[in-house]
Amino acid sequence: MRKYKGNLRDQWIDFKTWLKFYGLMIKFMAPHPLGLSKAMFKYPWMYDLLKVPGMISRHTEDVNGALLKTYCLTFLNVTEMTTAMLEDIFFHPEETVIIDSMVPTVIVRAMGLRVFTPEHIFVVTMPMVDTQSTHKYMDYIENHGLPGDTCSYARITAAAVFANHCPPASCIIASNLPCDSGQAAYTLIQKSLGLPMYFIDVPYNFRDDEGLKIIQSELGHVIEFLEKQTGRKMDWDKLKELCQRNNVTNEMELESREMRRSNHPPVVGFPPWTNGILWSFHDGGTKQALRVYEAFHAIEKAAYEKNLSPIKNLRYRVVIWNPPTMMYPHIFNWLERCWGIGVLMDMMSYTNEVYYDTTSPDTMMKAVAFSMAMAPMSRHTRGDYDFFLSQFLGMAEDYRADFIMNCNHMGCRNSMAMSGVMWEETRKRNIPLCVVDYELMDARICSRQGIRDQISNFMRSVIGAEPLDASLLVIDDAASW
Ligand code: SF4
Repeated sequence: MRKYKGNLRDQWIDFKTWLKFYGLMIKFMAPHPLGLSKAMFKYPWMYDLLKVPGMISRHTEDVNGALLKTYCLTFLNVTEMTTAMLEDIFFHPEETVIIDSMVPTVIVRAMGLRVFTPEHIFVVTMPMVDTQSTHKYMDYIENHGLPGDTCSYARITAAAVFANHCPPASCIIASNLPCDSGQAAYTLIQKSLGLPMYFIDVPYNFRDDEGLKIIQSELGHVIEFLEKQTGRKMDWDKLKELCQRNNVTNEMELESREMRRSNHPPVVGFPPWTNGILWSFHDGGTKQALRVYEAFHAIEKAAYEKNLSPIKNLRYRVVIWNPPTMMYPHIFNWLERCWGIGVLMDMMSYTNEVYYDTTSPDTMMKAVAFSMAMAPMSRHTRGDYDFFLSQFLGMAEDYRADFIMNCNHMGCRNSMAMSGVMWEETRKRNIPLCVVDYELMDARICSRQGIRDQISNFMRSVIGAEPLDASLLVIDDAASW
């Protein structure tokens, strides 16, 4: 049920988004009515993707102004990106490469090939539109032998492929990032699909020159592999174009962060982290990435110059460690409305923006290798303790956070292993740490209300705060999407 936004201007933005969403769906379905009807029978997750309007409502309840605009921009562009990806794999499988979400897509795109990222569909879009849609996959793969303590991020993707719910493509590019779970999943995916795969072997210490050289040489082998499998050649001018666009969007990203670090951040929460992950890292360099960044940046700048607050009552500046809760993706909305908490930065998008030196193929490949070493999660789950700590504490310091929220996903052994260190180091520095124990994708382990209770207890007992709206402390949403 769509609620009135409180003023006609925001109501119009909301209505336009709804219209544009259906426009995008018609544009996607009209040219291939038969092919897509067949796909709907074969791939049941296609139905889940039709629930996008409900997802937009959950995220934007009581959201107005610049923040509402950035939400709408983000969701429409994610829809466009998803439908384009589906069109590629359904109707041009021989030109499409399955690429793991930790591998930058610029190389594949520079070779004129198309990209399909299974994680984008199965562990990002599906849980976002219906958080219960992935439960069947987790149960299915556990029943087929993949241990239940393998991270659900990797488990769901492997399950969808194993269940024959992933369309075929020409070949696969995977890697051992971000961790052993991702590596195990792609071994299974390759066996299930029976496609040729190049597996990028990233060394444990990848931040030194030696490590980066190895990644760069692995990326060179990726090019040779793709040339052999698809007959396409690397177009260095195209790669230069993608890298140059990346430089432009990265500059905008850095400016956005500066605005968010200020006393009056123009946007908070969900849109900035999605932007950082999708169009700065994974799909960076595309024309769509540039378009999104330009529009996003214009909205942020206008709000910043007018000193507008992103939410009605911004009381606490917070940073999130670990991936935000995918089984409760609209948690940002509750944090803002119930407690006045604005999330300014998160671990996934808090990265060193890469400068792409486009002087020669070698300098470009060096930058692509570095961007891969800086992939979200990967850079925090391997490598040295000092780097981990500098990121964890540096993020809180940079954004002058009132506290750190650690979304303690119990399937991430890497991060769980650091829990004690996080407690110790934050105590030493007097930084409050809110630990939320839960499972990234599975609301049956810890419910959404379970998450809210942990945060509310922390807010009352550690911060000494009272909620802005006590009616939001308990919400009966266990059975909802
Ligand atoms: S959350 Fe942890 S275990 Fe899961 S994929 Fe990321 S790094 Fe690996």
